[in-house]
Amino acid sequence: MQFRRIVVKVGTSTLTGGGESTLPDRVFINSLAAQIAEQRQRGRQVTLVTSGAIRAGMSGLKLTHRPRTIPEKQAAASVGQGVLMARYADVFANYGIAVGQVLLTRDDLRSRARYVNARNTFEALLAAGALPIVNENDTVATDEIKVGDNDTLAALVSSLLDADALLLLSDVAGLFDRDPTAFPDARLVERVAALNAETLAMAGGIGSAGGTGGMRTKLAAARIATSSGAAMWIAQGRRPGVISDCLDQVSGAGTYFAPAASTRPSARKRWLAWASGEPRGTVVVNLCARRVLEEEGRSLLPVGVVRAEGDFSPGDLVAVADETGAVFARGLTQYSRQSVASIAGCATTAVAGALGQAGGGSQTPVEVIHRDCLVLLP
Ligand code: GLU
Repeated sequence: MQFRRIVVKVGTSTLTGGGESTLPDRVFINSLAAQIAEQRQRGRQVTLVTSGAIRAGMSGLKLTHRPRTIPEKQAAASVGQGVLMARYADVFANYGIAVGQVLLTRDDLRSRARYVNARNTFEALLAAGALPIVNENDTVATDEIKVGDNDTLAALVSSLLDADALLLLSDVAGLFDRDPTAFPDARLVERVAALNAETLAMAGGIGSAGGTGGMRTKLAAARIATSSGAAMWIAQGRRPGVISDCLDQVSGAGTYFAPAASTRPSARKRWLAWASGEPRGTVVVNLCARRVLEEEGRSLLPVGVVRAEGDFSPGDLVAVADETGAVFARGLTQYSRQSVASIAGCATTAVAGALGQAGGGSQTPVEVIHRDCLVLLP
């Protein structure tokens, strides 16, 4: 497989060496820079997602423990992000590579306009031959506007960029068939063809509190990346030549997750599925409508709607659920909640009349959600 555009994510302990040091390790960054330069020479566009800002800020602020309160973390990130970027800029300059800092929060991805703006910035950086270096904007991110972990952030960035490959470089060698810290005979899973209950169980279950070695967020990232059309790896970040070993599919390099779809969802659908945030309400549909949406990829028409829940206006993001309550899709509604309630179950020819009786507006789209603005959830 040709990987044209790749995203590489480096975790804090990989960056610092996992010991006492709070500063990013220059030797490691140098090896990373050499590998990224090699990939670029092979014609690949690379974006780096880095953690380590909060930890790097600890030395600057002379903190002896990891900051706990939000303002302390924000202050540490503010100092540490500068330290981190200075070190990257310094080392990558030896390879003739300019670095560009991109700091994002959940809010920047949720708003379609800001999402598209961010994408334009990445495109301009890549076109200019610079290396975008991404982190969460921890200095302003409170819980409500946070992505929260850089595995997920890296997956959202790879979906935003339409990347073909995402590499999560961490201090674990990959996904194991059971917890390697508890079972010495645990075996590395080399290839995951599709994410299923069995895979999730290996990570300690996606709903469990801890997971093994941060595997929970990595599998959540795999879901986003692979269903956006990218291949993903989890690999030991300090393994020499790890990036090319993964992309060249060298055995034992890490765990490979195959892309889910043969045809990649459109940019708008990728945004809808992963970045657009919390739906404002739910449109409940009957089983026949569910089948038509899932199997024929059609628009949602009023006739298939049973009821509407929540509070939404035209253009808002809504969840689509069947009558058992199972949410299976999401999309942008063309009608308000009140209007959906008025036209639920109506044949297309009866919609205008139903809205008239309910005092609805003059504009009467045929679809509650047009298929271009509707995405099925994996
Ligand atoms: N944004 C955080 C930092 O730079 C890291 C978050 C993560 O590692 O998932 O310190």
